[in-house]
Amino acid sequence: MTTTSKKTYTSSETAEALRQTIAERELTPHLNWSEMGESEHFVQFYENDVFLVNSLSEFVGTGLGAGDSCIVITTKAHREDLEERLKAIGLDLAAARTRGEYNALDAVETLSKIMVDGMPDADLFFEVVGSLIERTAQGRRHVRIFGEMVAHLWVEGNQPAAIRLEELWNDLRNTIHPFSLFCAYSTRGFAGEVYGIPFHEICKQHSRVIPDESYSALTSPDERLRAITLLQQKANSLEAEIAERKIVEERLRISENRYRHLFDSNLIGVFVSDFAGTFLDANDAFLNLLGYSREELLAETMQRDTLTPPEFHYLSQNAVKALQETGASGTYEKEYLHKSGKRIAVLVAVTRIEQTDTCIGFVLDISERKELDKRKDEFISMASHELKTPVTSLKGFLNLLQRRLITQEDEKTLHYLARMDTQVNKLTRLINDLLDLSKMQSGQLDYQAERFQVDALVQEIVDNMQGTSHTHRVLLEGQAQAEVFGDRDRIGQVLINLLNNAIKYSPHADTVLMRIAKDRHQVVVSIQDFGIGIAQEYQHKIFERFYQVTDAEEKTYPGLGIGLYISCQIIKRHGGQLWVESKKGEGATFHFTLPLC
Ligand code: ADP
Repeated sequence: MTTTSKKTYTSSETAEALRQTIAERELTPHLNWSEMGESEHFVQFYENDVFLVNSLSEFVGTGLGAGDSCIVITTKAHREDLEERLKAIGLDLAAARTRGEYNALDAVETLSKIMVDGMPDADLFFEVVGSLIERTAQGRRHVRIFGEMVAHLWVEGNQPAAIRLEELWNDLRNTIHPFSLFCAYSTRGFAGEVYGIPFHEICKQHSRVIPDESYSALTSPDERLRAITLLQQKANSLEAEIAERKIVEERLRISENRYRHLFDSNLIGVFVSDFAGTFLDANDAFLNLLGYSREELLAETMQRDTLTPPEFHYLSQNAVKALQETGASGTYEKEYLHKSGKRIAVLVAVTRIEQTDTCIGFVLDISERKELDKRKDEFISMASHELKTPVTSLKGFLNLLQRRLITQEDEKTLHYLARMDTQVNKLTRLINDLLDLSKMQSGQLDYQAERFQVDALVQEIVDNMQGTSHTHRVLLEGQAQAEVFGDRDRIGQVLINLLNNAIKYSPHADTVLMRIAKDRHQVVVSIQDFGIGIAQEYQHKIFERFYQVTDAEEKTYPGLGIGLYISCQIIKRHGGQLWVESKKGEGATFHFTLPLC
């Protein structure tokens, strides 16, 4: 409370006012350099060098003014600033130095005289610093010392040595001529939770602790109390944040461990690389797959491309492009080169690690599966060749028998022979499909190209089909009046396959519709049935090798799952397209196009 008008106090009011003033001073003491005790060891924290030099010049200035002797052990920069200030306030430093009242030492140089194996040596310290104090005191004077060796050790990261040196200063204070010691530390040296205990230790070594200028520069008790309250609030929220951070760190550590385990112990090869192709990490499965050690793989000189045969480079480039655009490469098959030079077939999927230019790749060794596929293909090829010859002879002898029996007019036997012929034809078609498949796999399916009328071919196939099917009518609509260039028999094979499927997969219908049309560039042939249809999710798969839709509730249909694959390859080979439109339970329409001549 402030008042300008004169007021007379009762003795009890005076006592109360005095009590308050003392309480305020105790709570929020101000530093007064002229009220220095005989023997003190205090520490000043500071944020700004200018503030430190201010305090220091007042400490030394008032000391010299009061007839004390002063020793400053500082860094060169602080010493220069200090002496400039002292001269500016009119002190004759040279004279004080000559009288032995002012001694300035370099902190680093003095340290070099007292340090042994990274720690201050008590004997050397007493010898170097103790004797200097005795000399400066000249037996009677009070000595003021500013020491910055501890602060230097702290900044250098040698905190145990700083604390030890503080202890030695205290020992010295108890053994020789009394002196006041002023230490100063920059608060920057304590930023971090790890400094909590050492900070406490430093404070413990001093008889007085002076907060940095953010507090000390405040003059009114009210401002100081507010500052303390604010600091308490900050300390509380910091503590809460630290506690929360620790929980988060722990969770992160557990999660990191979990993923590390997933990475290290995975059976699938996993690598991390940048987009340029340099490997950053790889698990054991990936290293084993390629035969390299981790050091070899992660070496700067190792590039992802080195591990891929040249003909697969475009796949890796496509993958990187897809990664940059969509964040994932999708899965693709390629080969890697083992360190020994052996090729390994793999299935790869690469994903971008979010917000980075790095990606994580998953690599599955499929060389065994490929080898099995190869053996399967070889078996199909061999088996179909072996079956072809006896079935062809069977067909020949069957036709011979039929011709003989026609003359003998044995109706019953002829009937059975006709049924046998149908089955032999089915068998022949299956064998031919298998043969075509293996020829396609090895690129040996030959095409005899010629110009031919599509309408005539379609009509011919429809007529044949009509002759053999007793269950369905095949209705032909439209005409193209167009010529195409290609293998007439192979296109006929596609038509037969699609018509057979239309009949096979519509057991409760009696009609198959065929349409033929043309636009400017192509002929479009469509085969529509009214059968079981194909659900959307299977529609792209039915053109794959050996794929058959197997729906739990549906009855199974005979077949090998290769007719559509062969048809699709034939149409593609002719520069056309084959696709399906269908809904489950609502029949299917297969369309194919052929470019006009
Ligand atoms: P498959 O010998 O099994 O008929 P395909 O390659 O000709 O072999 O056909 C593959 C699969 O596509 C068939 O198993 C069948 O599930 C489905 N499919 C083909 N055509 C039709 C159709 N017209 N209607 C319904 N499903 C069909």
